[in-house]
Amino acid sequence: MLRIGIDDTDSKRTMCTTYVAAQALRELEKNGYRGADLPWLIRLNPNCPYKTRGNAAVCLTIQAKPEDLGRIEEIVVSVVKKWADLESEGTDPGIVYAWAEQAEHLRETYWRALWEILDPKEIRSRCDSLGIRYVQMKEGRGIVGAAAAVGADPESLKTFEAIAYRVPEMWGRERLVDEQSVLEMDGSLALYTFDNYDYEKREVRITPHTPCPVLAGVRAITPEHAEKGLGMVRFYEPIEFHVVFKTNQAGDLHYIPARISDMKPNTSYIVTGVVSSPPTIIPGGHVFVKISDGTGEVTLAAYEPTGSFRRVVQNLVVGDEVLAYGAVKLKPSGPTLNLEKLAVTRLARVTVKAAPPCDICGRRMKSMGQGKGYRCEKCGIKRPDKEPLVVDLERKVSVGVYEVCVSARRHLAMPLKLKSSLRHYQHGQC
Ligand SMILES: [Zn+2]
Repeated sequence: MLRIGIDDTDSKRTMCTTYVAAQALRELEKNGYRGADLPWLIRLNPNCPYKTRGNAAVCLTIQAKPEDLGRIEEIVVSVVKKWADLESEGTDPGIVYAWAEQAEHLRETYWRALWEILDPKEIRSRCDSLGIRYVQMKEGRGIVGAAAAVGADPESLKTFEAIAYRVPEMWGRERLVDEQSVLEMDGSLALYTFDNYDYEKREVRITPHTPCPVLAGVRAITPEHAEKGLGMVRFYEPIEFHVVFKTNQAGDLHYIPARISDMKPNTSYIVTGVVSSPPTIIPGGHVFVKISDGTGEVTLAAYEPTGSFRRVVQNLVVGDEVLAYGAVKLKPSGPTLNLEKLAVTRLARVTVKAAPPCDICGRRMKSMGQGKGYRCEKCGIKRPDKEPLVVDLERKVSVGVYEVCVSARRHLAMPLKLKSSLRHYQHGQC
């Protein structure tokens, strides 16, 4: 089995690596080669500064013999040359060809590419030492994603996406999709598909907003449900073809558990901490709160696009215990973790002091000054020893796990609803 990794064929203005890879697969099939698995859509470190959009690479798995390699390379290179947006600065395609046993030696590269920003030079020498063939075009930065996709851990690929592509005449134009049909599909396949629609923002989420060849993608926990979901959506424009990808999306794979003092910028973390200063809201509706874990302090940020999720952050108080998920950015004010999910694990008590009732008549007493006790205006008695009542205030946030709205979600982040449906489904079916 030959694995072919492809990355960095797209630009801000056009193209999508999934489309280039799908075209390569179609061309290979026309030449008599057969796919040995669904193509893999592999998301990598979402904080990569070089990414075009979602930082995705693709791996094709083909049944082939060593003597086929030359012909396969010719086909793939010609497809990449035909479709990649090579004229755009920053489009630096990389293609990696590895036999299944060689690919296993790139497993570590895959995990590191989810968490770090890797140097293409290092990947080139890694491939050279393993005898893995690769092609680089222009700067060839795509070799990082291509090698990582080839080395992807099959166990980490738990979801699927059926992607429909537009005919080239439609690229760059508004996508003609029937919103009602997306809502119906989401309703009937709610247990199996995810991120179809943002009910908070009333926004279709299966269509991208970029001038790329993708018409729509339906994400699901089985290939059948992804394809079924796509089939239920009404489009008022032709579909050139569609492909079902196996993906590492929605697996929470990008998070590293860490202490605050160990966190580095452009990395995604899970961190436990205690709220150390009250939340602040700045113009634009962005909410910030600081937490500390004994090793340091970090600011948690819930920006306006995260929607009603901000209310949770806004209602935290000093002493609350949380588990925060998100990406660390270095801001002039210090390290900031852009929240993607937040588990509130323990609520601090919020109390107010109030005047106690009179022991004789039951009426509320009057304070005689700080620490000087209370007197009753009706009975006239004075009680210098009387302590105030301590009353618990009801908190506006509960213990639980919260997530940003669908439109603010990272491809790699697992929607909360998926946790149980993935578990149920995979247990039920196997
Ligand atoms: Zn009284």
